[in-house]
Order: sequence, then structure tokens, then C-alpha cells
Amino acid sequence: MTVLEIEEDRSARFEALYGAHRPSIAAYVRRRVIEHDVEDVIAQVFLIAWRRFAAIPSPPEDRLWLFGVARRMVADHRRSTVRRRRLSQRLAEEARGPVWPQVGSVGPVGFETMQWRVDRAMQALRPGEREVLRLVLWDGASHAEAAALFGCTANAAELRYRRARNRFREAFLAGAPAGRARLQEFSSSLAPRVSGGAQPRGGVMPRALITGITGQDGRYLAELLIGKGYQVHGMIRGQNNPKGRIVQDEVPEIELINGDLTDLSSLIAAVEQVQPDEVYNLGAISFVKLSFSQPELTADVSGTGVLRLLEAIRIVGGTNNRIRFYQAATSEMFGKVREIPQSETTPFHPRSPYGTAKVFGYYTTLNYRESYGIHASNGILFNHTSPRRGLEFVERKITNAVARISLGLQDTVALGNLDTSRDFGYAGDYVEAMWRMLQQDDPSDFVVATGTRWSIRQVLDLAFQAIGIEDWSPYVVIDDRFLRPAEVDELVGDASRAREVLGWEPKVTFPEILKEMVRNDIELEQAKAGGRE
Ligand code: NAP
Repeated sequence: MTVLEIEEDRSARFEALYGAHRPSIAAYVRRRVIEHDVEDVIAQVFLIAWRRFAAIPSPPEDRLWLFGVARRMVADHRRSTVRRRRLSQRLAEEARGPVWPQVGSVGPVGFETMQWRVDRAMQALRPGEREVLRLVLWDGASHAEAAALFGCTANAAELRYRRARNRFREAFLAGAPAGRARLQEFSSSLAPRVSGGAQPRGGVMPRALITGITGQDGRYLAELLIGKGYQVHGMIRGQNNPKGRIVQDEVPEIELINGDLTDLSSLIAAVEQVQPDEVYNLGAISFVKLSFSQPELTADVSGTGVLRLLEAIRIVGGTNNRIRFYQAATSEMFGKVREIPQSETTPFHPRSPYGTAKVFGYYTTLNYRESYGIHASNGILFNHTSPRRGLEFVERKITNAVARISLGLQDTVALGNLDTSRDFGYAGDYVEAMWRMLQQDDPSDFVVATGTRWSIRQVLDLAFQAIGIEDWSPYVVIDDRFLRPAEVDELVGDASRAREVLGWEPKVTFPEILKEMVRNDIELEQAKAGGRE
């Protein structure tokens, strides 16, 4: 083969690879990147993928590789967007003037307008002035550090910074009439988007603080809120928690803040620093089986943790407390059920340390609402799952085992009680209900469920069918170690109130989710196996 023929062959192979996967890559990018940048990012993916394909001796030809390139491009793009947003936000705060409340009052659109005005004001500055503002406000340099870079004294650096800030402020405020006109234009053209977006309180971009950000729901909720124009802060515990990096790779817009539900002072500091409009308490020891072996820790995190967080909100929020609070309550509180289906009026009978801790959290939330007038709501959520569900939970344990069995990596899966049944929904749908609860004028408690019930046997049917196996009995062994000391048999919810008051509906059915989980687990296991070769 001549060099020309090798190149032609390579570009034909690349075209075939890209052609086959372009629609799914475009859909992937479209879900993660703001609309007007989508085509740019797709073009970048194409260009970078082709450069790499052409440069390496034996180029990969599978779709996972192509998606790896797309994932990196999307992450890079989002990181630079976040940096620009942060700078704009700080600069605009510096310039806070009489027009500011109007600029912020339309949520996400207000932010774009603000960013546009920040850009214009920055262009009006001299390069040296821009440099000092960026250095101090964006990179967080002290005046002494700035002085070292400029080769002057700290006092001179401070003076230089102040002059630049004043000039920026003037330029920002001088843009007011144009800004207002542009704002009106935006508001009328994008009115439907605004009404579906965040409801800013106090005239600025709303802020949310989420505990349990590394968990399944935390990550879905963060994506939902960012899409609605929120600034999202996620609480992370421990020293150098490796899950922090996973979360930030996945959703770079999240700002992480340290804190632990077992430590009141860290919660007060977090609420003080973030000054949130909304707090979502999703942090918990949430695995029922673990709660039996670590009951005291479960009570401390999932029960007393709620009290501590509400105390932090009460202390920081003061009188006329504007901070709204969501508590992740659970169907496990119904335990040994008194009626089927369960609704907001069904009495509780928890059957695990997890359930009893959550009942404490539920009544504490109610108590802070009634005693201190805090806008505090309980979401009594029934089981919900997704490809992000932890591997310890039974439905994900099954989809992962099915994936491994289909790839010849595992022979059987060991399970406990196959006859227990649960009401399973999709986590992405359920976080929407959490947000809707905090947008109500009055706080309240809501059951969130699909109203359909699936036994573990049916979960096995669906998961094995996804890989073409009808009879799963040779692949399943019963192991008493997975039985709970006290079982909960028949959880199924009646979400009529959430439908009526919140206008909430589940959109994805359980068989659809489960199929997607099996597909995702096969991809993950294949990628892991590929990495080991
Ligand atoms: P998950 O995946 O198990 O996540 C639990 C989160 O809690 C993790 O981010 C974990 O952080 C955090 N956490 C644990 N101990 C903590 C502590 N001491 N301080 C602060 N954070 C701590 O749970 P999920 O499925 O997303 O569920 C979210 C919430 O909804 C939980 O409260 C759960 O009980 C409740 N809920 C879930 C379901 C469901 O079916 N998924 C149903 C009803 C209610 P680390 O990563 O650092 O451990």
C-alpha cells in the first residue's frame, strides 16, 4: 500500500466510525451544552477525534473511544464556561448599583444580560486595569501577590486595583439603559423559558445547597437546578473525598463545600458561606441493610443530621427566615404497612434503624415548620433508581450482575427475599418533584411514587430479558445473609396529591429504566475489562 492509500483507507474508516455515531454524539452534546454552543462543540469533537485518529499508529475504532473524546470536549467546554460565569458574577457583585435588582429579577435571562454588560464594561477598561481585576477577583490574588507580579508595593497594587474597580463600576452602570432595553427584549422573546425557570428571591441568581451531592439524587438534582439557572453548592464530607472529583467531572458547574451532617459547626459555616435560597437535605446513610449493622451512626446521620441542618438554617437565617428546606423522607417510614397504597395520611411503622431515623427527620422538619415558620417540606419518596444508583442496592446489583453474566465475567448472583415488592421510579423524575415542593407558596409533605409495584422476581425477569434470557433460575442463588431482620413487604405509593398540587407526573417507566441500566452496566463492564487488557 502506498502512503496515499493508507491515508485514504484511514479517512474512510474514520468517516464510517463517525458517520455511524454522529447522531448519538450530537444528542449527548446537546443534553450537556447550552444551545448556542452545541454545533461548535460537535465540530470540535469531530476535529480532535480525527486528529487523534490520524496521528496514532493503530487507531481505535469503537464507539466508546469516540465518546471518550466527546466527554472530554464537553467537560473542557463546561469548565471554561464556569470560569467565565464566576468572573462575571464577581465583577457584577463589585458593580452592584441601582439597576442591579432589575437585572437579576428574571433569573437565567437576567444572568445572560448581566454577563453581556460585564463583558462590555471590561472592554471599556485599559489592558492593565483588566489584568488587575482578573488577578484579584478571579484568581483570588492578595494585594501583596499582585504587587509581586507588578513589581510595586502592596499599597500601590491596592490603589491600582481600586482605580480599576471604580472604572469598571462606572462602565457597568453607564451601560444601564442599553442593558434595560436588552433585558426587555430578552424577557419578551424568552418568556416561556423564564416561567419554567427558577423563581429568584431577592433579585439575584438563586442559590441552592445540596447535602449528599455525591449520591444518586444529588447529582440529578444539581443538573436540574443548574439547567434552571441556579448556582449550586454541593456539600462533601471527609478529607480529599475521591467522589468529589467524579462529581465535578460530571457536573463542573457545582461548587463543592466541606461539611458533615454529624458536625453542627460545619453546617452553620456552610449555610453562612453559601447564603442559600434553598437547602436540599439528601445526605444520609441510605442503605437499609447497613443501618442494621450501624444503627447508631444511621440515627446520627439520617436522623439527628436533619435536626442539625435545620438548626444551622434557623441560626443563620434568623427572623423572617427566607431559606427553604427539603427533607428526603422515605417510603421505608411506612414499613409494616397499615394500608395499600400508602399516602400522606398513612400512619408510620418503620422496620429498620434507617426507617426510624427518617421518621425522626420527618417530624423534626414538621416541627421547625410549625415552631419557627421555616418553609420546610418532606418528600416521602418511594424507591427510585437509575444507572447512577449505588451497586449495593438490589436493582442495581441485579443489572450489574446480569451485565457481567452476559459478558462471561460472573456465573450467578446471590439475593435475599425475592417476594418483597417495591414501587420503583426514575431518579431524574423524582428530583423534579423535590424542586417543585420548594416552589410552592406554602411548605407541605408529599408522597412521590409511580403507583406500580414490582417484586424482585419481576425485576429479575426484566433484567434477564434485556440480554435475551427468559429462565433466570440457573443464575440466581438465595443467600440468607441478604435477608433483613425485619422485612418490609408491600410498598406502593399513592401520589395523587403530588399530581394535583405540584403538577408532577413520572415520565419514565420502570422497565425502560431497567433496560437502560443493563445497557449502561454492559458498557461499564466492557470498558473496565478493556482497561485491564
Ligand atoms: P445515596 O446515593 O446513598 O447518597 C447518600 C449521600 O449521603 C452520599 O452523597 C453520601 O456521601 C451522603 N452522606 C453520607 N453520610 C453523610 C454525612 N455524615 N454527612 C453528609 N453527607 C453524608 O442516596 P440517594 O439514593 O441519592 O438518596 C438521596 C436521599 O433520598 C437519601 O437521604 C435517601 O435516604 C433518600 N431516599 C432515597 C430513595 C431512593 O430510592 N433512592 C428513596 C427514598 C428516600 P458520601 O458519598 O461521602 O458517602
